[in-house]
Amino acid sequence: MIAPSDIPCESSTLSSVAQRLHRLWAEIHDLATVGDLLDWDEETQLPDGAHAARGRVSGTVAALRHRKLLDPELADILDACADSDDEDDELGGGSVLAAQVREARREVERAARVPETLVKAISETRTLATQAWRRARKENDFPLLAPHLERLVELKREEARAIARPAETDDGGGGSRPYDALLDVFEPGATEAALTPLFADLRERLVPLVQAVRECGLEVDESPARGRFPADRQESFGRQLATAIGFRFDRGRLDLSTHPFCMGLHPTDVRLTWRYQEDDFRPAVFGVLHETGHGLYEQGLPLDWEGTPVGTHASLGIHESQSRLWENHVGRSRGFWRWALPLFRTAFPDAGAVDLDGLWRALHTVRPSFIRVEADEATYNLHILVRFELERALFAGDLEVADLPAAWDDRYQVLLGIRPPDPARGVLQDIHWPQALFGYFPTYTLGNLAAAQLYEAAEETLGDLEPAFARGELQPLLEWLRERIHRHGARYPAPELIKRATGKPLAADALMAHLRRNAAEVYGI
Ligand code: ZN
Repeated sequence: MIAPSDIPCESSTLSSVAQRLHRLWAEIHDLATVGDLLDWDEETQLPDGAHAARGRVSGTVAALRHRKLLDPELADILDACADSDDEDDELGGGSVLAAQVREARREVERAARVPETLVKAISETRTLATQAWRRARKENDFPLLAPHLERLVELKREEARAIARPAETDDGGGGSRPYDALLDVFEPGATEAALTPLFADLRERLVPLVQAVRECGLEVDESPARGRFPADRQESFGRQLATAIGFRFDRGRLDLSTHPFCMGLHPTDVRLTWRYQEDDFRPAVFGVLHETGHGLYEQGLPLDWEGTPVGTHASLGIHESQSRLWENHVGRSRGFWRWALPLFRTAFPDAGAVDLDGLWRALHTVRPSFIRVEADEATYNLHILVRFELERALFAGDLEVADLPAAWDDRYQVLLGIRPPDPARGVLQDIHWPQALFGYFPTYTLGNLAAAQLYEAAEETLGDLEPAFARGELQPLLEWLRERIHRHGARYPAPELIKRATGKPLAADALMAHLRRNAAEVYGI
């Protein structure tokens, strides 16, 4: 049985200064949890007419948390912790307290550098931009969004400049670029300088692979994935798979929502959502496997550090590596379906004769398409590279919002070989930018790269995993992830965590090997 540690915080081993930090941080953390719970409620339960009223409540909770981050007592405690020689290193190597201080300071400094007037302006503009985006997407009309997005980009540039470290005050070498300040929110420590060559390497290898698939002209038969799949049966099948890979429903739940997500309120309270399509089982099943991967990470975070700065995920890229690993490397494998197919046939007796090989092919099609969230495993990353390049240009001042639609379409032409026919299937498809989430997209590809590298490393330790999957044995892989990733929380920065877990820095090799293997088998290239 896999379960996060039940050992409570052994406060007697912590110095009093660390205890004071934990106490103060727990309040900051709890206010964030309240905000998350309100968000979950908004996505799954809230009546349509109540959104405006809820906005004020969420704003109050966020403001209270912001105030607590700027509490002078917290600053004093962090200084005292930094001077403390407390050696709380039960996991070996480095001091946990130093990591607590590093993570806390990151948030405190960010909160201190951005003036409250700017925070408020961004929040208000984001609300307007999101409303405008819904209308613009529906009416296929970018100019409806443009003025709001222009204002938002302007404000985010201001925020990025406020946070970015100028070169002269930095003792660790070189300053940071404005875009780094945006990346750092989601992927602590990530920089444009580090991501650019990594993503360029991926681009150089992935574009020709996708092009070769296009040119081979082979169309994969996707009928094994299509049919009639009643929603209630999809739900029970999804729950069955989530349980089998280790998700504990006594510490979590699954609800319907428009956009699937996972929200970890506590390792004992992890909430997943899903959606379905009645004529294709893939959105529900792979959506549930994806969110369960996130959920397993949340359930496996160290309980003894819960409510402390390192008691959380290392980064969004690491989070996404957990969801992609279970969704793509486990959930789309032959071994997994050797085990799951009989359960599938029981759940959907009307689905017709589905054979393992035909199904496996239908799960590994490669086809350039316009919409990111519907993209296959290979082309998905090209959608992200488009957005990464555009964000870099926007925040370097090389691109203005008015030129965004044309720049978007041009990049789709170059990277995916297709040109969006209209803005709704182009620049207007994602909610991220209207919600001021600049710097978020790269974490999806970082997650895909890390998932492949972790899976490869797990097989180096555990041997070929698919024969075990075929017997329904999914626990050894989860235990491996608990040991290498989950139990460390945010103790190590993401690049270090990956290096410790896999023995090498994050690279595109494992993902490309995985995609090439599948393309060779499905398309014979
Ligand atoms: Zn995800």
